[in-house]
Amino acid sequence: MTRFLVFLIAAYVIYYLFKNSLKSKAPGNTTQHPPDKKTDVAATRLKEIAYVFYSAAKDGNTCDVCMSLDGMHILPDHKMLHRIKPPHSDCKSTQGCRCTLVYVTRDEEGSREIESLLKRCGGMCDRNTLDKERMGR
Ligand SMILES: [Zn+2]
Ligand SMILES: [Zn+2]
Repeated sequence: MTRFLVFLIAAYVIYYLFKNSLKSKAPGNTTQHPPDKKTDVAATRLKEIAYVFYSAAKDGNTCDVCMSLDGMHILPDHKMLHRIKPPHSDCKSTQGCRCTLVYVTRDEEGSREIESLLKRCGGMCDRNTLDKERMGR
């Protein structure tokens, strides 16, 4: 009988320790720390980005909507960035929208010049207007 009791107590202790280790693992590792780090990384990346430009596939299957947005330059914090973000729903291409946004960082040559030009244009500008602005200087 005492052997059985000892066995029961031991089983209970093991169960209790196991439960505690599960508890302490869950909040520490998965929920608290990673999200904070992620937002920090996202914020610093956003600071490094000088501008974003829109790039369409530019082949026979690229529709007018995508073509008109091709070469559009925009500042990374501009509110229009979310509206022009591909793939867009009104694309008429049979292959669907294959456009991408190209993120250009500040360490790339000439990126700061384009960034300051974009600021003068109100944060968003197409390629032709940008070229004209650069020629006019
Ligand atoms: Zn399209
Ligand atoms: Zn597209």
